Amino acid sequence: MKMEMSYDVVVIGAGPGGSVAAKYAARSGCSTLLIEKRQEIGTPVRCGEGIAKRWLDDVGIEPSSKWIANEVDGARIISPNGTVLEVDESKAGNECGYVIHRDIFDMSLAQQAAAAGAEIMVKTSATGLIRDDGIIAGVRARSMGKELVIRSSVVIAADGFESQVGRWAGINTNLKPKDVDSCYEYTLAGVDIDSRYTDFFIGSIAPGGYIWMFPKGEDIANVGIGVQMSKIRGAGEAKMYLDKFISRHPEFSKGKPIMEIAGGVSISPPLDRTTVPGLMLVGDAARMIDPVTGGGIYNACVAGRIAGEVAGQAVEQGDSSQQMMDRYERRWREKMEDHLYRNYMMKEKIASLDDATFDKLVYAMTQVDMDRMTTLEILRAIKKKYPEVVKEFEEFM
Ligand SMILES: Cc1cc2nc3c(=O)[nH]c(=O)nc-3n(C[C@H](O)[C@H](O)[C@H](O)COP(=O)(O)OP(=O)(O)OC[C@H]3O[C@@H](n4cnc5c(N)ncnc54)[C@H](O)[C@@H]3O)c2cc1C
Repeated sequence: MKMEMSYDVVVIGAGPGGSVAAKYAARSGCSTLLIEKRQEIGTPVRCGEGIAKRWLDDVGIEPSSKWIANEVDGARIISPNGTVLEVDESKAGNECGYVIHRDIFDMSLAQQAAAAGAEIMVKTSATGLIRDDGIIAGVRARSMGKELVIRSSVVIAADGFESQVGRWAGINTNLKPKDVDSCYEYTLAGVDIDSRYTDFFIGSIAPGGYIWMFPKGEDIANVGIGVQMSKIRGAGEAKMYLDKFISRHPEFSKGKPIMEIAGGVSISPPLDRTTVPGLMLVGDAARMIDPVTGGGIYNACVAGRIAGEVAGQAVEQGDSSQQMMDRYERRWREKMEDHLYRNYMMKEKIASLDDATFDKLVYAMTQVDMDRMTTLEILRAIKKKYPEVVKEFEEFM
């Protein structure tokens, strides 16, 4: 049995990108439906749960004790020989500030979408797209055994790393193995940590990636790894690298795993195209993850806001053309494309460094003053004092 429905905007996927998109679409007066294939938004968690503070305001998110597990003072980067660079939170990049309960965070963003007027359906999977004269005009979905035909003026696809919607729309979302990180993470209870810092361990312990320790409390932390797929034989190897690392660190190995997760993140350049008439791709589905850090919550939320606002304009003007969708394309690219490209090239370079060079770089960073710890600022600062250490990175400065 088929059920016909009709909305101005349908959003696929209730991760951060989708919920923020649904909130802003609903706020601009559109009848909005947010569909999520899982039975519970935010669960199971597949995330290190580290976010920065300063962008939350941009997407209308108020910090809340409901989802903040721990507020950190800064980040530490630890080189292969144990040299530690300490960075104050106010200078750090996008993965430092709060360690969150991601399940509650995602749920609260969905609540905000609902409060703005969006309808939400869980246990509802998009299975295809509807087209009218070449323009995307809705979504086919399945919900508890029922086939749904949901007509809409605009579709926003925020269906995550494993996105299919982009492909259905004819957008090439393929990733090369070198542009994917295979991740594994434990939440360890009973660890002996300094919960004021997030820690990043770099070098051959995590080929092409890094190991993170994000403290969720005094004695509980997410300890995880991201390893470049092209540098390992299979996804299981990420866990092997992590287990080896943990076994050599008594402060972590005394902890007991209360959660174990595996997942992939794209560390690619952003897609050449994230829209077709009537459809916008948001967040991980559009490959908006930062290729150096693997963090993607911020970019997903920012793009979600822009997509929701553009959807509002499209509906108001009765125009879902490519020209209208280009407004989204332009706005998100202005906001983050340069940074994503620079960090992509940087990731390529970093993946080729040996442990001795990491040691030199981290040591050099401890010797210079920086206002902000962006990759660009780091390189510029090191260059002033140790030009020979960053010779290989000249092209990024
Ligand atoms: C191990 C790991 C650690 C990470 N750590 C961090 C971190 O510390 N900080 C950070 O910023 N980022 C981190 N990330 C990345 C971050 O999780 C993502 O960038 C972020 O979730 C992107 O949000 P999104 O809304 O684009 O996609 P998602 O959060 O993946 O949401 C997509 C949603 O779409 C739903 N969906 C998929 N297909 C369909 C369908 N056909 N129909 C209906 N619903 C569908 C999914 O169920 C899901 O709920 C990590 C990722 C991994 C794997």
